[in-house]
Amino acid sequence: MVPPVITRFAPSPTGALHLGNVRTALFNWLYARRQGGRFLLRIEDTDRVRSSEESLAGLLGSLRWLGLDWDAGPGCEDDRGPYRQSARGALYEASWARLEAAGLAYPCYCRDDELEFARKAALAAGRPPRYPGTCAQLDAAGRAARLAEGRRPALRFRVPDGTVEYLDLVRGPQRFEGADLGDFVIRRADGDGAFLFTNAVDDAAMGVTHALRGEDHVANTPRQLLLIAALGAAPPAYGHLPLLVGAAGVPLSKRDRAGSVAALAADGILPDALLNLLGRLGHRYAHDGWLDRAGLIAGFDLGALGRAPAHVDPTQLRHWQKEAVAHADAGVLASWVRGVVPPGREAAFIAALRANIVLPEDAREWAPVVYGELPCATGELATLLAGAGPAFYAAALEGARAGDPYPALVARIRGATGKGGAALFKPLRGALTGRLDGPELAQLLAVMPPATMVSRLEAAARLATPAP
Ligand code: GLU
Ligand code: ZN
Repeated sequence: MVPPVITRFAPSPTGALHLGNVRTALFNWLYARRQGGRFLLRIEDTDRVRSSEESLAGLLGSLRWLGLDWDAGPGCEDDRGPYRQSARGALYEASWARLEAAGLAYPCYCRDDELEFARKAALAAGRPPRYPGTCAQLDAAGRAARLAEGRRPALRFRVPDGTVEYLDLVRGPQRFEGADLGDFVIRRADGDGAFLFTNAVDDAAMGVTHALRGEDHVANTPRQLLLIAALGAAPPAYGHLPLLVGAAGVPLSKRDRAGSVAALAADGILPDALLNLLGRLGHRYAHDGWLDRAGLIAGFDLGALGRAPAHVDPTQLRHWQKEAVAHADAGVLASWVRGVVPPGREAAFIAALRANIVLPEDAREWAPVVYGELPCATGELATLLAGAGPAFYAAALEGARAGDPYPALVARIRGATGKGGAALFKPLRGALTGRLDGPELAQLLAVMPPATMVSRLEAAARLATPAP
């Protein structure tokens, strides 16, 4: 029997949720959902200085906004929890004790300056800068002597000789020499667990079967595999995703506003636009058009993960946002224009203008064009409106007062004036919207209150009437 798939997203709450993290969360979520498995959310908050409750709240909020729901995690604990590493100290203590008792880990009393010196010396001699093993064979007396000097020990994992091999879900077969790794720290001198230790111990304890994560963790993987093996547990299958890069080819950074989910949400980007974009960065869907959630899940395939650098392209984001608007619930878009169109008109306004709106700011731009007060026409526009002549506006006003639908209105003006083409449509649009570009006039007029049409046509008619 194949064990159920368990994936996880393991963010550190040290800043706003970033597109790179979201892509990682998304892929793990998609795979769990595709396989009918479980998706865990584990908060890696062992770095007490850089972690904050504020970042955590923002992170949870962004995940909820994206609809990436977790089966266990903060606010949804189960017997594999707690899901914050800061609350899992007892498990780490027990694992350190086991490793040390088995001789698989040992205290290291080296100070930072000594380690740095050894590192530089190794580099200068053309050797890999790994830990030289200074404390690997200390006996009880040697340890006591160093403690007496006031040194506080870190705990190092004793890397066995031999090779570490694994099959990366993205990068294929990988092979590392134990001798190149060097004994590494699993508990820092201040008592905190090292990232690669707590991360590996928790994956093992939580039964994680698949860990998709950023390429920046490749070097941790052989060490984590050794650790998990030393603890007698089964490791997840790891897959390392290519990092996301921005337009200029530089990796997206946490400080990049364009990469912050909260900032994009504040701009009005829809969650499904982001998911369609990110689902295709480092992964290829067989279908290249719009996918709803069910489609994103059904089409997700580990075999379609790729290694090429994944570019976050603003043009692509805009493309998916347009698609998302086209597919969005009317209620979502209506909320964009609440307060900027007359109450009760939101749904009709959105229905008329959906094809012309990409962001809430577009909707807010068009609301006054339909419902507001137009400024007096000046310059070129005034000249154009005046040039249409009094008969033009007489016919248009007759149609507006009669409640003509758009085609009837156009036919009425054509019948009365003989005008067609630009000579008809330009002044009509200019008179009714105050501008010469924009969404189809038929759509705008479908939502424009008749009284507004009448007063705008009257204003244009005054321009066309010669002064007495
Ligand atoms: N806390 C790590 C990070 O945010 C987790 C890495 C992993 O997914 O294993 O990069
Ligand atoms: Zn040492």
